[in-house]
Amino acid sequence: PKYVYDFTEGNRDLKDLLGGKGANLAEMTGLGLPVPPGFTITTEACRHYLTEGGLPDGLSGEIDTHLAALERAMGKRLGAPDDPLLVSVRSGAKYSMPGMMETVLNIGLNDESVHGLAKQAGDERFAWDSYRRLIQMFGKTVLDIDGDLFEDALAAAKRDKGVPDDLDLSAADFQRLVETYKGIVREHTGEDFPADPRRQMRLAVQAVFSSWNAPRAVVYRRQERIPADLGTAVNIVAMVFGNLGMDSGTGVAFTRDPGSGRQGVYGDYLQNAQGEDVVAGIRNTVPLQDLERIDPACYRELLGIMETLENHYRDLCDIEFTIERGKLWMLQTRVGKRTAAAAFCIAVQLVDQGLIDLDEAVRRVTGEQLAQLMFPRFDTGADRRLITKGMNASPGAAVGKAVFTPARAKELADRGEDVILVRRETTPDDLVGMIAARGVLTSRGGKTSHAAVVARGMGKTCVCGAEELDVDAAGGRFTAPGGLVIEDGDVISIDGGTGEVYQGEVPVVDSPVVEYFETGRDGGEELVGAVDRLMRHADTGRRLAVRANADNAEDAARARRFGAQGIGLCRTEHMFLGDRRRLVEDLILAGSAGEREAALEALRPLQRSDFAAIFAEMDGLPVTIRLIDPPLHEFLPDLTALSVQVALAGDEASPRDRRLLEAVRRLHEQNPMLGLRGVRLGLVIPGLFEMQVRAIAEAAAERRAAGGDPRAEIMIPLVSAVQELEGVRDEARRILAEVGVAALVGTMIEVPRAALTAGQIAEAAEFFSFGTNDLTQMTWGFSRDDVEAAFFSRYLELGIFGVSPFETIDADGVGRLMTIAVAEGRRARPDIKLGICGEHGGDPESVRFCHRIGLDYVSCSPFRVPVARLEAGRAAL
Ligand code: ADP
Ligand code: MG
Ligand code: MG
Repeated sequence: PKYVYDFTEGNRDLKDLLGGKGANLAEMTGLGLPVPPGFTITTEACRHYLTEGGLPDGLSGEIDTHLAALERAMGKRLGAPDDPLLVSVRSGAKYSMPGMMETVLNIGLNDESVHGLAKQAGDERFAWDSYRRLIQMFGKTVLDIDGDLFEDALAAAKRDKGVPDDLDLSAADFQRLVETYKGIVREHTGEDFPADPRRQMRLAVQAVFSSWNAPRAVVYRRQERIPADLGTAVNIVAMVFGNLGMDSGTGVAFTRDPGSGRQGVYGDYLQNAQGEDVVAGIRNTVPLQDLERIDPACYRELLGIMETLENHYRDLCDIEFTIERGKLWMLQTRVGKRTAAAAFCIAVQLVDQGLIDLDEAVRRVTGEQLAQLMFPRFDTGADRRLITKGMNASPGAAVGKAVFTPARAKELADRGEDVILVRRETTPDDLVGMIAARGVLTSRGGKTSHAAVVARGMGKTCVCGAEELDVDAAGGRFTAPGGLVIEDGDVISIDGGTGEVYQGEVPVVDSPVVEYFETGRDGGEELVGAVDRLMRHADTGRRLAVRANADNAEDAARARRFGAQGIGLCRTEHMFLGDRRRLVEDLILAGSAGEREAALEALRPLQRSDFAAIFAEMDGLPVTIRLIDPPLHEFLPDLTALSVQVALAGDEASPRDRRLLEAVRRLHEQNPMLGLRGVRLGLVIPGLFEMQVRAIAEAAAERRAAGGDPRAEIMIPLVSAVQELEGVRDEARRILAEVGVAALVGTMIEVPRAALTAGQIAEAAEFFSFGTNDLTQMTWGFSRDDVEAAFFSRYLELGIFGVSPFETIDADGVGRLMTIAVAEGRRARPDIKLGICGEHGGDPESVRFCHRIGLDYVSCSPFRVPVARLEAGRAAL
């Protein structure tokens, strides 16, 4: 295979092979934009390197050929002593992983070529600064030396000279620093810094390949659900220099505000700086608008390029650029990350500009983003004590204890506490803490800093660049204006939408998007208008119906306002709690048929009115009611507590308590999940299901008599064999006929055997609803209540699965059982209705899976209904 592509050969469709950065550099080159020449080594070469432990045959030759072409194009040779060509070696995977992997700049410098560079540029200081940067980056990323050693040496150089800024260091200072750095390399590797430019390049390429498997990259991929086996491409790019004086500089820009979606000029610029200086927050950047004053020609050219890119990509782009002595160079572009609110606004703006159609707009927003927009916000009317205001980097309202190290964040979060991670700035090493925290607060860096970019990607609340705060991470505290000190463990509240930071806990209120779902009014806000348009379009396109899981009239009503087309799961056991628990006890304690009937008779009218209220709210829409599912001892007191109570009471213990204790002992199960529950209860306890079906039928009759349109569906849980279902079904039909109402009778598919014998079961069931919580438990053999806390985090670390199978349907295993059941069920009964009522019904990826396997509906909690509607639309459009 061909392992190396010149920028003139690739294009943006080759991301799998060239990575995002390489594909887009090629695309920009093709558009005629000013990109420094270079070439890309493919992800295929990386995969070969990682699996085989060496570079593939032929790669070196291809690199040599492309390097020779690059040298010809630039009229310089790599690292030549008199006039060196320098290159960067840049990682770039298919999906952007900001700051996760490695890049080395200024490859080609050594003790000789540094003089050539100085002579050609006419700038000694620049040459030595570039050289020390090379050793620093190379030492850290290629030679694996602790980066702090270099940082500390740099800080010491500034301290010795009594200056605050890198800019105040001279050529001689940097030359000395180069010696110090070389010493660090010798001390930590036992070898000299490699002087041979080709060797530098080769080692850097291998280091970039290896960085794919760096621990922080592994964590990031897991979090973002990026497959672990893609590998990264490597880009070799001729260096251009933003550190050649004040007429040079480097910057980042967005074609629109990634926070709100508004059009305009957004970005940061830093004069006399190289590469990562901007994002690292080393010095304070100026807003991109200031470039208009600093270098109007470059500014105009940049705006023109931004427009070209937006029209070409038909989306918000982010950009890295460098100005070398008045000449603008483009170093990177990609379709930019954005907040959830911006995603909706931008999609609709692009429709209005005629750049995309509504189908495409719906595909560009996600259910996750919609879910984020439904989070509560801080109550602006509440009493609040503002500490300071930083930049609104990633929206949301987060409250938690301030913590100052990633380890501490994880420690408290593991104990179930909410924390806000506070740092001067974040680096990829903070990732664990960022994942654990409710929100992130930094005192330095702009909207394109590491903290901001990563937090936005994770949908985590972030305020960055709160410069008034003096963060002392080692001391575990920050000091705010006026001398207020917040220590580790003190509660703070941060608003990622406004950048505000508050002392203590600020109460939160509903989001306007939720208000829109509740009332149907958009209130004129751009965001709400955008959500409205995209939701309507998703609804017209989707094939899957969306129902809700609701156990009472109130939830049913809310679900309907949120767009639910019925109830997919109404759990009846919740109706047996509270005051009614005593009636259930009576049923369990019944010593004779008469007593049992009396207990059931007492429950029936209560159930009837519950159902009637739900039918009223869901008038005209299907309501699937599941007959009682959990083991009966869940309704009885705890064994230990009751034993103690009875023992303490001695002879005084009431006869009822004694009988209860006996019942608790009798009903105790080693493994209740697999015990007497679901249809098994109906078959073992005479009259129980009968009572429930009668209550449903009577409630329906009552509604009908009142002019309503009830659509009951009776669902039998935990069926494993058609024989279990047949008797219950016949009995239900008899009662329905007796009361004189119609209802479907169907079953849940939640035991693997039911999925495997779905063809038989469908003979007795008018509908299937996949109970994917139990189906996942039983397919994996995981007890959900135990495994998540016990070892799931380890399983995730080991990569056994990228996401818990209780969160997203395990398509290969559980999903395969579902596929079998769908096929066999439909074959036996072509008009069978198929749905899902497990937690997965509100998970975006699982909704798309349900669409693919041809279910008729998904059912989820009322709050997830809009998310499921949107994802069902995205799946179909
Ligand atoms: P990341 O993916 O972390 O952004 P990059 O490969 O984009 O890493 O490089 C890091 C920084 O170095 C960026 O600011 C980039 O613009 C800059 N850079 C990379 N290559 C060059 C080059 N050839 N000339 C000048 N600056 C470069
Ligand atoms: Mg970059
Ligand atoms: Mg179940």
